[in-house]
Amino acid sequence: MCSLTISSGRRWDGSPAAPRHLRALRVAADSPSRLLRTAQPSRCRDCGNRIDWYSRTDHRPISLHPQELAAAAVPVSCRWHVDSGIAHAAGDGTRWCRIPHLVLCPAHQPTEPLTPQLAELRRRLALRTRRLLDTGAFTPPAPSDPPVAEVSVCRPARPVVQILYGRYLAARPVDDIQCVAQTRRRRRCPHRVLAAEGPAGVWRLMPATAARGQLALPAADMAVYDLTHLPYAEQLRWRTQRCPAHVAAPAAADLALADWEVFDPLLHHQHIHARLPAAAPGRRDWP
Ligand SMILES: [Zn+2]
Ligand SMILES: [Zn+2]
Repeated sequence: MCSLTISSGRRWDGSPAAPRHLRALRVAADSPSRLLRTAQPSRCRDCGNRIDWYSRTDHRPISLHPQELAAAAVPVSCRWHVDSGIAHAAGDGTRWCRIPHLVLCPAHQPTEPLTPQLAELRRRLALRTRRLLDTGAFTPPAPSDPPVAEVSVCRPARPVVQILYGRYLAARPVDDIQCVAQTRRRRRCPHRVLAAEGPAGVWRLMPATAARGQLALPAADMAVYDLTHLPYAEQLRWRTQRCPAHVAAPAAADLALADWEVFDPLLHHQHIHARLPAAAPGRRDWP
């Protein structure tokens, strides 16, 4: 019997066996994005259709329709392009462009009149949503669902968080926000941003205005998870959505975009809660 072992450094036919090195992808130090894959494929939570998440030049996320479209069919104000992994709100002068999913999303009213091509594309997305609903592959969220509001009294599903004097809407409950960094096993880090040790935020009632002061609502106070008393580096850790271990490993790439949305009291009014979350046993981030 001939052995297939390569422990001698040679293949079975005597040719030298090159040792296999796993090559790690790295993020260049001057890369504007820390993501290994610039587009983060996902599905629209309102209509179930495919979207790609990108970072914009101001680091806020935007979901684009996954395919390029002929620029001639897209109003100038809706044209985007992607350069070095960053989405830019303009065409790039070619015959093709990208378009924000929100322009096409069948779960929302179009923000402006659609060209016939875009209307047809939106109709196709609506049909796909119907198919996903029919097969049970997609369940749309119910924004005014009372159970969500009740649950949120003790654990807001999408808390408003104050970091570095900006106010953000989190995508998940405070103790469920996941680190975006990539582990050595090339998976997304399973750890939470809220560390088991060290300082945490404090729930406070704060005026229901945008932190940048662009709008004052008649509503008095709302519950905000306030991190502004923490050291600057700690607030930056929350903003970049990394666990303590991955702040100590800045070379690690990101596998997902931080999913903070800049809080807008009008857009996000259903996430405004006038009462502080009830204390949860064993959870020390609740005051
Ligand atoms: Zn959608
Ligand atoms: Zn981590």
